[in-house]
Amino acid sequence: MLKSKVSSNATDQRNITRLRVLEQIRSTGAISRIDIASALETSPATVTTATSDLLSAGLIQEIEGETPSKSARRGRPRVLLKLHGGCHLIAGVKVARHQISVILVDFEGTEITSYTHPLEEARMAPEAFAKKIYAALEQACTSASRSLTEVSGVCIGIAGLVDAERNFVHWSSSLTVRNVDLSPLLSQVLPCPAFIENDANLVAKAEQLFGLGKGLKNFLVVTIEHGIGLGIVLDGKLYRGERGCGAEFGHVKVQLDGALCQCGQRGCLEAYVGEYALIREATIASRATDPHTLADIHAAAQSGDARSISVLSRAGQMFGMGLSNLINLFDPECIILSGTRGSFEYLHSDAVMTRINNGVVSVDAPLPEINVNHWGDSMWAKGAAAYGIEQVSILKVRELAENAS
Ligand SMILES: [Zn+2]
Repeated sequence: MLKSKVSSNATDQRNITRLRVLEQIRSTGAISRIDIASALETSPATVTTATSDLLSAGLIQEIEGETPSKSARRGRPRVLLKLHGGCHLIAGVKVARHQISVILVDFEGTEITSYTHPLEEARMAPEAFAKKIYAALEQACTSASRSLTEVSGVCIGIAGLVDAERNFVHWSSSLTVRNVDLSPLLSQVLPCPAFIENDANLVAKAEQLFGLGKGLKNFLVVTIEHGIGLGIVLDGKLYRGERGCGAEFGHVKVQLDGALCQCGQRGCLEAYVGEYALIREATIASRATDPHTLADIHAAAQSGDARSISVLSRAGQMFGMGLSNLINLFDPECIILSGTRGSFEYLHSDAVMTRINNGVVSVDAPLPEINVNHWGDSMWAKGAAAYGIEQVSILKVRELAENAS
């Protein structure tokens, strides 16, 4: 018993080392073994063993670096290691209300194709959801003259409370039922492993890898679309909470027994700021028979309509109060406001900034920066693809250990 535990711990340690080496190669690009050892503060022998395993699994490849200067020994070109881009095809998927965006990337994250699949229904039964994911992926593969059977892993980002560890959706605005284990459904329709993640977490991942969060250790991403999401990066890592239910900024309460939220509770922030909430408020306020669109509300506010101005202004004040609470809780380096829609300027207006200032505990230090990033759905999908690459890396390294035992 003890022996197997020791052996299993040794395997775990080898896997951790392999993944660290792989991550180092991913983050720096082509790098020599000695530089990996130095960056990871480990021995060259350990790195040689790990890279040999990764090479035999086809995850990395050797390339010739530049020939060193004359003073270096024999002037032989240095051997560098890089990811083997062609070894795996990975898909990133973002499920929005009216469409599914798919991006196919290679193992290095280089985009192969992107594809948008229309959705007739914003909320689906889990079985229909799985079938739609399959259809979108198949179309994306066809558009790139690839087969779905070539895909090594799919990461799917959806709004809601998601336990990413076990592909369990506590609640999502894309599903008609609560408490859904998507693993069996997805494995029935897809020929490869699938990973579910909260969409705001994927935007945070994308911001960290490609966007305004690059190089930052502690930052928050607030996503503004149909609902309001939050991705928390602390000490360089995504924070999800114990049950995967953390970071539900849209459902923090800003009003006792307030407006009805799509989650079923009252007084949530997104019941005032989410796209659906603005449309509901504006439609009720104007006693219109046809629902307004967001564009109608902005246009009316621009032309001086007092009711539309009031709806947007209240949303801004609620949002500012929410942001000041985030700053009080996390004291981040910066907050990134990220949205797919063209216009959420009213959420970072001077009036909102004043509300934030008034709500933040007073210290003699500047406030965290609040930056705005307008990302399309394809960029959310890119975050999903990045998460998919991470998960496929973990699976493949685990397979290495299993094959060796
Ligand atoms: Zn809510």
